[in-house]
Amino acid sequence: MRRGILGIVGSRIVDVERVACRRRPIAIAPRIDWFRRRVVSREVCDVDRVGKRVVVRLESGDAIVLEPRMTGLVLVADPPSREHLRFRCKLAGNGTRELLYWDRRGLGSVRLFSAAEFESAFSEAKVGPDALTVTAEVFRERLGQSRRAIKVALLDQRAVAGIGNLYASELLHLAAVNPARRCDKLTRPQWQRVADATHTVLEAAIRYEGSTLGDGTYRNALNEQGGYQNHHRVYDRAGKSCPRCGAGSEIVRIVQAQRATFYCPRCQRK
Ligand SMILES: [Zn+2]
Repeated sequence: MRRGILGIVGSRIVDVERVACRRRPIAIAPRIDWFRRRVVSREVCDVDRVGKRVVVRLESGDAIVLEPRMTGLVLVADPPSREHLRFRCKLAGNGTRELLYWDRRGLGSVRLFSAAEFESAFSEAKVGPDALTVTAEVFRERLGQSRRAIKVALLDQRAVAGIGNLYASELLHLAAVNPARRCDKLTRPQWQRVADATHTVLEAAIRYEGSTLGDGTYRNALNEQGGYQNHHRVYDRAGKSCPRCGAGSEIVRIVQAQRATFYCPRCQRK
């Protein structure tokens, strides 16, 4: 998402608008008229990311934080439907005419932060180190004492930021670690494999621009499908054979903390 909208850097904000929508309203803060007063005529100086949020930085020091949660999209092209369009930011000066926020379930948010508010909202205490760079030692420091199942703990954004549900299953399969294994029972070599697999899986997912599943929700910034779904090892592949141990094995689906987990019982033994 971040890379998809990077072209807005250098643009100036002309207007922001809460798009009229019959669906459950998303959280926009502050109120749109206050929001507008603070951002109009400001220049976008960078597009950043903090965990699973996109951060549009303005030269004023303010930051617009778009948090897509389950079904939100950040777009610089026509949205998949008008019906779920939630927020529009009109731009001028650098070729991109608008930045849109679309959200089918409406669980996401668009919030404006001052520099000081941003620092306190996204401090180390609230958002863990980023998954793309976290080392095995830091994984162990932050989760090594936890009695939670590794798959559940990986989704805790305060421990490590940026791992989504789908990618947690994927990386545990690559690391050959059982998703129900308790964190405090993982060995040093297993933490190393988890850290390595986190980087490998997330880097591949970024390269393929995410996974567009059967429901078609996820789209890139140009409203095109992602490509990572064609490379899934286990996610959404229940009953199919394991890409590592092959014929005779079957990927299994279980539920942990209300979220689906997929794994291979043969090469991810408990
Ligand atoms: Zn297997």
